[in-house]
Amino acid sequence: MKTNRSQMLYDEAQSFMPGGVNSPVRAFRSIGRTPLFIDRAKGSRIFDADGNEYIDYVCSWGPDIFGHADPDILSAVASACEKGLTFGACHEGEIALAKRIKKHFPSMELLRLVSSGTEAAMSAVRAARGFTGRDKIVKFEGCYHGHSDGLLVKAGSGLLTAAVPDSAGVPRGYTENTLLARYNDTESVRALFERFGSGIAAVIVEPCSANMGVVPPAEGFLEYLREITSAYGSLLIFDEVITGFRLSIGGAQRKYGVVPDLTVLGKIVGGGMPLAAYGGRQRIMECVAPLGSVYQAGTLSGNPVAVAAGNAQLKKIEQTSDLYDKLERRGARLEKAFINAGFNVNREGSLLTVFFTDKRVTDYASAVTSDTSEYAAFCGYLLDSGIYTAPSQFEAMFLSYSHSDEDIERTCSAIEKYPARIPR
Ligand SMILES: *Cc1c(COP(=O)(O)O)cnc(C)c1O
Repeated sequence: MKTNRSQMLYDEAQSFMPGGVNSPVRAFRSIGRTPLFIDRAKGSRIFDADGNEYIDYVCSWGPDIFGHADPDILSAVASACEKGLTFGACHEGEIALAKRIKKHFPSMELLRLVSSGTEAAMSAVRAARGFTGRDKIVKFEGCYHGHSDGLLVKAGSGLLTAAVPDSAGVPRGYTENTLLARYNDTESVRALFERFGSGIAAVIVEPCSANMGVVPPAEGFLEYLREITSAYGSLLIFDEVITGFRLSIGGAQRKYGVVPDLTVLGKIVGGGMPLAAYGGRQRIMECVAPLGSVYQAGTLSGNPVAVAAGNAQLKKIEQTSDLYDKLERRGARLEKAFINAGFNVNREGSLLTVFFTDKRVTDYASAVTSDTSEYAAFCGYLLDSGIYTAPSQFEAMFLSYSHSDEDIERTCSAIEKYPARIPR
C-alpha cells in the first residue's frame, strides 16, 4: 500500500502543527505508522491522499451515523450556507434542534447548544456546581469528558485522595476537587460519598464507556449512581457524547432506563459539524446566564450551519425506522466474527473494541492489561487489508448505517484470517 503522499504531507505538517496534527490520536503514534491524510470520504468509505480506499470504522469518532457525505445532510448544510455562515444572534433553527433533542431526551428540559463535547461537559459540571453550591465532582478512571482542566484526570492516585492531572500544564489545584472512582465498582463510589458526600456536586459518567475501549455498564451500576447521588443531593451527569442517538434514539438513558439530572451530547447531534449540547432539569438549567449566575457563552454557539447539519441528521434518524436494528445486526455479526477468530471483544450495539488480554475488560484496570503492541499489529494488518479502525487501543470501532453487508463480510473475512493470539 502506497503512502508516499501522506508521508510527504505529514513531513510538511510537522513544521506547522505540534506533531503535524490538530488532535493527538491522528498522528498514529501508537501504531507506528504514517498517519493517513484524507482526501475525501463517501458512505462507508474513506480515501487517502495516495488514492487508497478503506472501509471506515472510525466514522470521525462517531458523528457519521449515516456514513460520510450523506446527501440529505449536505443539502441542508448547503442551503444554510447560502443564508450566511454565522450571525452571533438567535435564529429559528436553534428552536427546531432543541425541540428535537428534548423530544428524544425528555430529561433535557432546558438545554444549551455549544461547539464541542469538551465545552458541553465543562459547562455541565459548572452548572452542577452552581446549582448545588458544592465543589467536588466524581469521575471514573478511563472515562473521557474532553480536555478541560478539571476533567483531565484518568489514571489516579487511588481512591480517597485528590486526583493528579494527566496532563502537564494543569495546576494541581485545578483537579483537587476531582475525585476518582472505578467504573463498574459501586464500592469505590460508596467510599467517596461516605467521606465527601455533602461536598459532591455531581458524578459524571459515560453511561457506556467508550474511551477506554468499549466497556458497558455492569448490571445495576447506573442505578446505583442514580440512588446514591439522589440520597446525597448530588447531581448525576451522563456524558452521552458518544452514546447519544447511537445506543438508541434516546441514547443510553433510554436504553438502560436510568434518568440523569444533566446530559452532555456531542458527535452525532452535530451531524458532522462542530456542535454539542448540555442540558437537564429545568431548575438546574435556570442557574445558567442570563437566568442565573452560572456564566457560559459562545460566539459560534448555535451556529446556523452546524445547527442545519444537526437538524438534518436528527430528522433522518427519526425517519430511518430500521436504523438501530440494522446497526445492532451488523454489530452482532462483527462481534461473532471476532469471537470465532478467538478475539476478546466488548460490544454494545454499534460500538466494539477488541482487547489483547485474557482478562474480561470491565474497567480501566482490566482495559490497560491489553497488549497495545498486539493491537498495533492488528490495526496495521487491517489497514493493509483496506480496513480503517482506530489507531489506538482505547477507542471504539464505530458502525454506520452505510456499512453494507458486503463491507461487513469483507471485514469479517479479514478478521477470521488473522492469527489472534490472546483469546479470553
Ligand atoms: C469525544 C468525547 C468528548 C469530547 O468531545 P469533543 O467534541 O472532542 O470536545 C467528551 N466526552 C466523550 C464521552 C467523548 O467521547
